[in-house]
Amino acid sequence: MTHSEVAIVGGGIMGSALAYWLTRLSPGLAVTVVERDWAYREASSALSAASIRQQYTSAINIRIAQHSIGFLRAVADELEVDGERPSIGLREDGYLYLARPGEAAALGRAQAFQAAHGAAVARLAPAELAMRFPWLATDDLALGTLGLAGEGWFDGHGLLSAFARRARWQGARYLRDEVTGFERDGPRVTALRLASGGRVSCAVAVNAAGPWARGVAALAGLELPVRARRRTVYVVACRERLAGCPLVIDPSGFWLRPEGERFLAGFAPDPDPDDLPLEPDLEAFEAQLWPALAARIPAFEAARLERAWAGYYELNVFDHNGLVGPHPAVPNLYFMNGFSGHGLQQAPVVGRGVAEHILLGRYETLDLAPLGVDRLVTGRALVEDNVIG
Ligand SMILES: Cc1cc2nc3c(=O)[nH]c(=O)nc-3n(C[C@H](O)[C@H](O)[C@H](O)COP(=O)(O)OP(=O)(O)OC[C@H]3O[C@@H](n4cnc5c(N)ncnc54)[C@H](O)[C@@H]3O)c2cc1C
Repeated sequence: MTHSEVAIVGGGIMGSALAYWLTRLSPGLAVTVVERDWAYREASSALSAASIRQQYTSAINIRIAQHSIGFLRAVADELEVDGERPSIGLREDGYLYLARPGEAAALGRAQAFQAAHGAAVARLAPAELAMRFPWLATDDLALGTLGLAGEGWFDGHGLLSAFARRARWQGARYLRDEVTGFERDGPRVTALRLASGGRVSCAVAVNAAGPWARGVAALAGLELPVRARRRTVYVVACRERLAGCPLVIDPSGFWLRPEGERFLAGFAPDPDPDDLPLEPDLEAFEAQLWPALAARIPAFEAARLERAWAGYYELNVFDHNGLVGPHPAVPNLYFMNGFSGHGLQQAPVVGRGVAEHILLGRYETLDLAPLGVDRLVTGRALVEDNVIG
């Protein structure tokens, strides 16, 4: 039996970012992170495409992205440990959203909204697209939008390790164990029960269990609309160099970005069942992805699949956005779940916000109330059109 002020279930990017912020904002606070797999073999944070964008259609997601990119740029200072300055290889090469005639009006509206919220996103007509990206097939396109700053990709696993390392250095305790239950006193959680037989008593508990968040919520008798949905990331070799290649979001449904000399690509499968084993869907590459890639980027006709991996999106089937903050029915149980493909980039900001809420009872740096769990009770969805399946 140990006691902790805050006990966090899951030590992925969310749990570790929170542990970092809690012990930074309140040095000496007793924080315990319970993580069952210190190798993070199935954790989304280790299997992600680790990209960040400003091109959202909700004000809260844009604000989070603006704060997050600042953190990522300063990560070496923020997460330094004993003179070791982590490098996450942040590249700000932009996202390029593409639209055919039927989708162009919506993309144009999104760009206007982003610009009004301070995001540097340019509109590119087909002729400009062809000039800037000569390797792109533009015949069927009516519009593109390109992020000019604050968008790109980084080493996601590196960011996770840096958060966890710095959190430990600041005094957070990581326990290798599995949370199997909550002890309650009326509506309040009083302790985590562990598979080893141990217990961690706590003033506040946090569900940061990623794709397994629904099961953890169920341990407290709560239903959480978060599902583990498998996504395959394909590593593709293409002989031709694609000068200035950003992260491309194609209207056919795939995404693609450079990764060193190679490319990463993926798409949302349909149908999309829950809880598939984490084996990459290799057949879908030839049947679905390759033809779409080659249609948009003819150089990919000669591309080769080198390898692939699969991870789980922690998909919020209610409205595809993070569910953040205390639960109305169990006020000392916090949630950081359901980020639906944009959690890695939001973790630095969500971690800080949840830490502030736990310590002060309110958000201070950025109001994360629009992501509140209470929308499961009110039924009011947070509408975000730019969700990458
Ligand atoms: C293929 C893919 C591509 C993605 N691309 C992007 C992207 O480009 N940009 C972006 O921002 N996001 C992206 N995401 C999403 C992002 O990776 C996730 O939103 C984020 O990593 C979620 O972090 P987490 O800490 O909540 O979950 P996880 O990293 O899964 O961590 C949860 C941890 O909880 C532990 N755990 C669970 N239950 C228990 C328990 N009962 N007891 C103890 N430990 C437990 C698990 O072992 C796990 O380590 C992508 C995800 C995938 C799968």
